[in-house]
Amino acid sequence: MTLMPSAQETNQKTNDVTSFLHVTAQEAVFLKANTNEQTHRIATKICETLRLTMKMFEGSRDAVVITDSHHHFIDVNPAFCAITGYSKTDILHQAPALLNSHYHDSQFYFALYRQLLTSEQWVGEIWIKCKNNNLLPLKLSLYSVKDEQGVITHFVGIFSDLSAHKSTENELSKLAHYDSLTGLANRAQFVERLQFTLDMAKRNRHQSALMLLDVDRFKLVNDTLGHQLGDELLVQVARRLKQCVREVDTVSRLGGDEFTIILGTIQSSENAAGVAKKILHALSTPFILNEREVFVSVSIGITVFPLDGDSVHLLIKNADTAMYHAKESGRNNYQYFSDTMNQKMLDELEMETNLRQAFKNNEFSLNYQPQFALKTQKLIGAEVLVRWHHPVLGWISPAVFIPYAEKSNLIIALGEWVLRTACMQAVSWQKTGLTLQPMSVNLSGMQLKQPDLLYKVAQILEETQFPAHLLELELTEGVLMANVEETITTLKKLKEMGIRLSIDDFGTGYSSLSYLKRFPIDTLKIDQSFIKEITTSSDDSAIASTIIAMAHNLRLNVIAEGVETIEQANILLDKDCDDVQGYFFSRPLCEADFCQLLTKMQAESV
Ligand code: C2E
Ligand code: CA
Ligand code: CA
Repeated sequence: MTLMPSAQETNQKTNDVTSFLHVTAQEAVFLKANTNEQTHRIATKICETLRLTMKMFEGSRDAVVITDSHHHFIDVNPAFCAITGYSKTDILHQAPALLNSHYHDSQFYFALYRQLLTSEQWVGEIWIKCKNNNLLPLKLSLYSVKDEQGVITHFVGIFSDLSAHKSTENELSKLAHYDSLTGLANRAQFVERLQFTLDMAKRNRHQSALMLLDVDRFKLVNDTLGHQLGDELLVQVARRLKQCVREVDTVSRLGGDEFTIILGTIQSSENAAGVAKKILHALSTPFILNEREVFVSVSIGITVFPLDGDSVHLLIKNADTAMYHAKESGRNNYQYFSDTMNQKMLDELEMETNLRQAFKNNEFSLNYQPQFALKTQKLIGAEVLVRWHHPVLGWISPAVFIPYAEKSNLIIALGEWVLRTACMQAVSWQKTGLTLQPMSVNLSGMQLKQPDLLYKVAQILEETQFPAHLLELELTEGVLMANVEETITTLKKLKEMGIRLSIDDFGTGYSSLSYLKRFPIDTLKIDQSFIKEITTSSDDSAIASTIIAMAHNLRLNVIAEGVETIEQANILLDKDCDDVQGYFFSRPLCEADFCQLLTKMQAESV
């Protein structure tokens, strides 16, 4: 009998099951050739079975993996390598943690092992991570293998790739989950993905962000160009949005002109601003619709998980609030839900340097908010409001930057620019045949303190040929009360020049009636905070009535600002308020839109 190494001996050198099968098969062949008939028969049978087992192991399209009782891989078949991308050498002696996708929590694995130990098998769906880091869904059957004494010696896993199956499933669910116009995820899919993102973020302790985007003035595009081109625009917007984010991020259309973006993983809250800037930039190039160039912009609200909320509902709600904040701040910009975050971004901008730069680069422009006589609804003039378009951040609200401009003294130059530009603009409209309109210009407290204020104003009126009696300067109560005697002297001189004066945000400061009588003013502007609640708060309604009655007693004109609804307008009419401004009548308009309004009004009055 020829001596040959036993399978046991060979197996001491390697635990590899394939080698084991090879050696055992060789032993069987050896036995077949060297033993009696019965042993020969048994050996032939073993030989056959081993060959078949080997074929099945090697040729199976399902992946087969074998671990020892300590869960270390001791062999895998070629299908395993093909599916996971790992070679045999990569995987040998490693623990299954190598394939962990972090898709399942520890409870999942705990339940799996418990069942495997008690029932000797576990069958189910599981996600693994492949060598290229892609996540893969599997149909997995796990078995424990015991020896004669019932002690577990091995575990065997057999699995197949479910991604193809999933993709047919996906095809079917596509209709239910995707927006038919843009091909983006629809609302149902968006909510599902957001929930999944939050679950993953909670588990892996990372941050995620939700962005809510609304196309500015989409209704106008739809109304002027028609629904078909409106749809085409949405398709093109969707395409550009997708190009701004990573493959793993989700862009959805909630309906109408509302889109969302889920940023699955962000390193810090500031990352979301980076994406928002990219989007604003990507949309700044005009769209071509029916050979026409169309300009659109979006307002973006950003919420960050877990900073701003930890549920789908709360994050959507907060993103919505932030988006409205962006609209209020002049559209074409982004806002974080958390004010501290907004503030941080702005501080980082080094506001003062930026403001100076902005001034040099002509980044400021003017809006005109029409003012109307309440009884006749006739246009009586406009309030001039400054706007700042930062090249990266987009529109920044004057409520944010004016305080910085005041701190840095830049308000002097900016205020002068606003006055000159508004007067020049009004006169240029007049030159095209339109009636010259009264202009109300906000004057900062800093400007009022300048010794050369009167000279500067006179110079601008002279230069632009804008008549003094059509100019009204607005000063807040706080500014008037800061230095009463000096202020009265300056105001009297402005009055002598023929300029009208008004008290802005009236009701929020502490002006006493005796002082009020001494200021040479023409108009009181009821602060918008009282108008906001005028229909629901009896206090605010009473304050508005008192201001109107007091103004009339002092022979002052009274204008309510921030009128947003017809109910507010009707109450003010009942209270005998003279004039109004606010979103119900008109939002602040850019130069071209205000000129258009003037033309329309003039045509109607003929
Ligand atoms: P303000 O003088 O009280 O101006 C009215 C503000 O209310 C404007 O905000 C206007 O857009 C907004 N508004 C008008 N109608 C409505 C409405 O119906 N509802 C609501 N919620 N708001 C309405 P804006 O343009 O953001 O200006 C904010 C503030 O910035 C101004 O408050 C003013 O204090 C200051 N500001 C704006 N332009 C200038 C300027 O040229 N010079 C100076 N010194 N300050 C300016
Ligand atoms: Ca004002
Ligand atoms: Ca005001």
